[in-house]
Amino acid sequence: MASRRLEDLCSPVMAKFLKLKKGASDRFGLDIIATSTLRLNIEQAALYAQGRETLEFVNYLRDIAELKPISEKRNKRTVTNTLWSFHLFGCAWDYCIIKGGRAIWNVKADVNDDDIPDYEQVCDLAEELGIETGRAYGDYVHCQFTGGLSLDELKAGKRPT
Ligand SMILES: [Zn+2]
Repeated sequence: MASRRLEDLCSPVMAKFLKLKKGASDRFGLDIIATSTLRLNIEQAALYAQGRETLEFVNYLRDIAELKPISEKRNKRTVTNTLWSFHLFGCAWDYCIIKGGRAIWNVKADVNDDDIPDYEQVCDLAEELGIETGRAYGDYVHCQFTGGLSLDELKAGKRPT
């Protein structure tokens, strides 16, 4: 089952998340929570299949990965570009902004009313903290921190320290 637990992140990655969370709150009055942290290979395979394989096959993979089935409509678009996500190594998290107990998914939202989109503010802060974001390719909710390690080094078992 996909995890949203912070304890499933590598310790330096968890520390970065907490710095981002506190900074977003202190500086912008924005509350963020992690919605996805560590992922298993089978979960990534199911996500990668989405929008690329038949709905039947996607839901077959999702069933093995203990993810809820998706609709034909959701299978019309892809949700990841890689089988090798940094989520597999506990080096990435997805997050969302929370307001009054509700998740805000609109990347143009301005819940703190300062005329700047909230997700831009969180991404600015993340990048200031040395966290890579997916903003450049439209994935505002994805953050990763590898401590300078490459994907190959992570695959070989190295982890950020
Ligand atoms: Zn992600």
